[in-house]
Amino acid sequence: MRIAALLLMAALCLLLPSSARTQSSGPGVGDGRADGSANDPATSLFAQSAGQVLNRDFPSDEISFLLLDARSGAVLASRWDHPETPIPLGSLLKPFTALAYGELHEFKYPAHICRGTATGCWRPRGHGAVNLTSAIAYSCNSYFRVLTASMTAADVTPTATRFGLEPPAPGIFGPALAGLGGRNPGDQWLVSPLNLARAYMELVRRRDQPGVRLILSGMAQSARQGTGAEVDRALPHSDALAKTGTAPCTHTRHAPGDGFTIALTPVGEPQILLLVRVYGVPGSQAGKTVGQMLRRIEPWAAVGQWQRE
Ligand SMILES: [Zn+2]
Repeated sequence: MRIAALLLMAALCLLLPSSARTQSSGPGVGDGRADGSANDPATSLFAQSAGQVLNRDFPSDEISFLLLDARSGAVLASRWDHPETPIPLGSLLKPFTALAYGELHEFKYPAHICRGTATGCWRPRGHGAVNLTSAIAYSCNSYFRVLTASMTAADVTPTATRFGLEPPAPGIFGPALAGLGGRNPGDQWLVSPLNLARAYMELVRRRDQPGVRLILSGMAQSARQGTGAEVDRALPHSDALAKTGTAPCTHTRHAPGDGFTIALTPVGEPQILLLVRVYGVPGSQAGKTVGQMLRRIEPWAAVGQWQRE
């Protein structure tokens, strides 16, 4: 069975045009061993194939991506300059800020009425009544402004450390802790994209802990009908956890903002994690790219999974 699957994979590899086998430079592209932990043949083969497909079908240098094995944290494929360098990640930080709030308030979260522009939300009309789950699903800025109003970097640091994230600088406080800082990177909580990806894996691992269940439920809702809806829309079946974000652009060629989306699939026991940044678009639009990418590599993922069984 295993040998047959390997042969099938090898055959599929050969069917790819030779240009697809030219790997671009960048950490871990296609080698599946970026951190030394993805060295079994099946995972390596999947990593190589997925890297080739993503680089061939999504060649734009406006798209950065990190594809991880959602169980081991190994980088399977990537095209992201310096993914270990901390940058602003916008609303992708919200789940961890929410957990830090929970630690301080016995995991009792407030209800809130988002009135849109009037209460500082990105959606002019507002989201109406929101709780933590819907605030994650719709990335409601108004909710997180209230949640973080009196929070300091020191409040967030223990949670950040527990999840392997760089703690916010001491002077960062309030909504900046939920990715709602100003345009100046000095006003932002800066986190490495690679650490952030692995922190989301840790969220899934802690799914039974207080607060985490509400957040993961919000991420499933995001992919179904929230700001991450483009992820599920591109997939043949609704089966992803997603979170979107928009942050000040850190490219040399400067845009007002970059869009981010992180997705883990399948929902029940995520096998792969994909973090994508798209230059100069809102986060919800980056979700579309994530959905299209997952759709392209999903058959590979299925074969990879089959080999591991
Ligand atoms: Zn809102």
